[in-house]
Amino acid sequence: MIVVMKKGADQKQIDHMVERIASLGLKPHVIVGTERTVIAAIGEKRPDHKESLESGPGVAEVVKILAPYKVASREVKPESTVVTAGSFTAGGDTIGVIAGPCSVESEEQIIACAKAVKAAGGTALRGGAFKPRTSPYSFQGLKERGLEMLAAARAETGLAVVTEVVASEDTELVARYADILQIGARNMQNYRLLEAVGKAGKPVLLKRGPSATMDELLLAAEYILDAGNPDVMLCERGIRTFEAHTRFTLPLASVPFLKQKTHLPVIVDPSHGTGHAYLVPDMTAASVAVGADGLIVEIHPDPENALSDGYQTLNFDEFAATMKRCRQIAEALGRRM
Ligand code: PEP
Ligand code: MN
Repeated sequence: MIVVMKKGADQKQIDHMVERIASLGLKPHVIVGTERTVIAAIGEKRPDHKESLESGPGVAEVVKILAPYKVASREVKPESTVVTAGSFTAGGDTIGVIAGPCSVESEEQIIACAKAVKAAGGTALRGGAFKPRTSPYSFQGLKERGLEMLAAARAETGLAVVTEVVASEDTELVARYADILQIGARNMQNYRLLEAVGKAGKPVLLKRGPSATMDELLLAAEYILDAGNPDVMLCERGIRTFEAHTRFTLPLASVPFLKQKTHLPVIVDPSHGTGHAYLVPDMTAASVAVGADGLIVEIHPDPENALSDGYQTLNFDEFAATMKRCRQIAEALGRRM
């Protein structure tokens, strides 16, 4: 249920309704919009709850939320959420561009990447320090040393840092260094981890699991929102299909679909989505054309010798050219990039 407050409802009335919802054994979630404030009431409802809440002071109406996800739903919050973290903004008119290597390999490498991201007009630096690798024998990341290198690259360029947290017990450590916490595809349904990043006080980039449905992705986002973190971005990074010519299949229809269903920004990862560097520029451009609120692209000074995902990684010149092309598309659509 959502309790829609009247346009001029004051704070006292909102606080009163929050208490009233809690006293019914429901969890209140206040969502302040530009037009009006709504309070989502989450939990097991009784038929008489609707009427009881409708009589509250400053209440315009009480409506049922049809979607299984509640706080993530556009029914609850019609205005798009804009997520900001330092130099980075995604949502509304603004397309945020995150780029950097798959893995942080050295201070020299990550600083070179940060400078290339900034020069091409990107707004955040990515780089994995804790890597979720398919094989336990593959490079697992530099861990805390990698986080320190990311912080050095931020100090050098001013770019916000996006990095993955793979285990709930690492959340506090990663959040000390990162501006945005990435939840990887393999962890999309790791609910304890989602709760941990929901309490970490940093925006979250939530990647779609390779076999997750749209509802599962939105319900995973709901865990983070329900834990009290309103700054969640969804990331389409490709799904597993029968097709073997690409590493994953990148279904760009999820962008307009998600943007209808949720107010949260939608980011696209054309690197993991295709698995081939030569496909990345076109799919990056297509992501902007289809309405993505942000991009996350893998780049490296020497992709051939990257310690992970080199085959899907752009070099600096390819990235700069891709950004130039995307900016033209963004401008044609009346968006900033
Ligand atoms: C990554 O961004 O490097 C990564 C591991 O992505 P995903 O979780 O989408 O596979
Ligand atoms: Mn990668």
